[in-house]
Amino acid sequence: MSRTPIMAGNWKMNKDHLAAVQLVQDLGSALVDKDYDPASTEAVVIPPFTDIRSVQVLVEGDKLPLVWGAQDISANEDGAYTGEVSGAMLAALGCSYVVVGHSERREYHAESDELVNAKAKKTIEHGMTPIICCGEALDVRKAGKHVEHTVGQIKADLAGIDSADVAKLVIAYEPIWAIGTGETATADDAQEVCGAIRKAVEELYDAPTAEAVRIQYGGSVKAGNVVEIMGKPDIDGALVGGASLKPGDFTEIVTFYQ
Ligand code: PGA
Repeated sequence: MSRTPIMAGNWKMNKDHLAAVQLVQDLGSALVDKDYDPASTEAVVIPPFTDIRSVQVLVEGDKLPLVWGAQDISANEDGAYTGEVSGAMLAALGCSYVVVGHSERREYHAESDELVNAKAKKTIEHGMTPIICCGEALDVRKAGKHVEHTVGQIKADLAGIDSADVAKLVIAYEPIWAIGTGETATADDAQEVCGAIRKAVEELYDAPTAEAVRIQYGGSVKAGNVVEIMGKPDIDGALVGGASLKPGDFTEIVTFYQ
């Protein structure tokens, strides 16, 4: 497969700036001890905003085999938007990835697909890569509408983004009922939706774009299930919450190929 797998650890609202230093140092050493080869998988940490500077100082200049991302971005360029963080601010620090449309932001902050689309565009405009999250709630899955729902989200989230940019971005399929619950979708369930997303990208754009876009699965990914999930043809990585806070566990996930 020509797509480089990407394992991204979303710390959510955990760890202060001192705890972040410890976590990144422990993770860096664990990866080195495991002979982790960055050419085999990309390892990304996604700390809260207040930890970014601590993390950036530790990883810049390839001091550690990690890149970092942000959990959110403002859809606005700059100005009077209290509490928001702009794309320019993140880019100035060397941010690589920005998570947009996480289900927790869609749910607790009423983020619509229109806003997710605007944030994805803002991320690209500033030279960073969006990780666009999508996925269904339990009632939608029970009604058998999970593919339709998730593909619908992705179509709306990609509106107006051209194929060259889509080819470079990351889509994270995260069924909401599997996030932080210990409940993982089976590898076949995850493949069903990830495969449908890739097909939708091919229909919207073309085969090379669909072949290039990286699609992650997220939802209770851990060392014990990552190998099976990564065995599926349309799954190129994982967006990891809980297990990314444990250096040993995240290292196992990043080095799943060993
Ligand atoms: P989890 O979170 O791994 O704790 O289920 C995944 C996510 O929300 O990205």
